[in-house]
Amino acid sequence: MYIAIIGAGFAGLSVAWHLVQQGVYEVVIFDAKGIGGGASGVAAGLLHPYVGEEGKKSLHAQEALQSASRLIETVQTHLQEQLLFPGLIRHLFTQEMQERFASYKDVTRLDQERFWIASGMTVDCPRYLEGLWQLLTKKGVTLVHRSIQDLQELAHFDQVVVTAGAGVKTLLPSLPVSFVKGQVILCRVPEGVLLPEVSSHSKGYLALSHNRKICTLGSTYERGGVDETPHLTFTLSYLLPKLKQFFPEVDRLEPLECKAAVRVIRRGHYFPLLAKVQDRVWVIAALGSRGLLYHALLGNVMARAIENNDPSLLESLYDTR
Ligand SMILES: Cc1cc2nc3c(=O)[nH]c(=O)nc-3n(C[C@H](O)[C@H](O)[C@H](O)COP(=O)(O)OP(=O)(O)OC[C@H]3O[C@@H](n4cnc5c(N)ncnc54)[C@H](O)[C@@H]3O)c2cc1C
Repeated sequence: MYIAIIGAGFAGLSVAWHLVQQGVYEVVIFDAKGIGGGASGVAAGLLHPYVGEEGKKSLHAQEALQSASRLIETVQTHLQEQLLFPGLIRHLFTQEMQERFASYKDVTRLDQERFWIASGMTVDCPRYLEGLWQLLTKKGVTLVHRSIQDLQELAHFDQVVVTAGAGVKTLLPSLPVSFVKGQVILCRVPEGVLLPEVSSHSKGYLALSHNRKICTLGSTYERGGVDETPHLTFTLSYLLPKLKQFFPEVDRLEPLECKAAVRVIRRGHYFPLLAKVQDRVWVIAALGSRGLLYHALLGNVMARAIENNDPSLLESLYDTR
């Protein structure tokens, strides 16, 4: 079976990975910007079950975390380098939030405001995408550097999977999604600045990986269009007051680069949108701020739905009884 995937981000690469495990598909990915050219290439790498201001446990969190960890570890083994950095600290300033986090089994209270999320981690996203792509090429997956303007261009494929991130706006305009611009700042860490042990977050975050001379500050949430132009001054003015609450030395970091991308959000619920939308056409959209958390689980379920031509497998994810 000949399958086209539109978009080479977390979702597209994950679907490709789970499809080629069966060895019976010829998979071609289309993306004018290449691997990680959308939001996945900008993501700061935080992966944990308690995404969002309210910090409630995400739907299917355990299964999603397991699937994501398994896939990231597979890539880690292939590259023979560390991509996944365990542990995450959340700073909480209200009693309601502190009580909520204190009730989670994988969370330990470190002091008044700091909570250690043992199941949380930080992923080196650029290397992860690169490594996953290397594994896919070994399985025969190819990448065509081309933007698809109309699904009819792919009429010669048996199945088409749309994992186009914000590009879904043009390809499937009637989907119930909206768009939120996000910006992060890559910073150099000068001598003498003492970083926290692991990535830390509250209303903003400080993401850390193996290179302790570099860190990422994030993130902004501007609702509306799909503009991906980075604005360093705006982003700094938005983030610094938030980060200062738990990392007073943030002022001393030296900004190197501001990056922007668009998150897609499903209207009415944070859980992503998975569906068969037309004959032969499937979609995964609206991973929101949970791209790392959900990409492997959704890629797996989507691959099984395509294999069996059974959209009800997708619907089963929405059955929360
Ligand atoms: C600033 C920021 C920080 C974030 N930090 C985190 C984080 O720490 N942890 C986390 O889990 N999530 C994070 N996210 C969210 C995460 O990045 C997204 O949920 C995830 O990347 C979405 O993956 P995707 O594959 O659906 O889309 P994308 O990664 O956007 O991929 C879509 C791809 O489709 C391509 N495309 C679009 N239209 C077309 C077309 N017409 N033809 C061909 N190709 C097309 C694009 O070029 C792109 O490469 C962050 C997002 C932002 C913006």
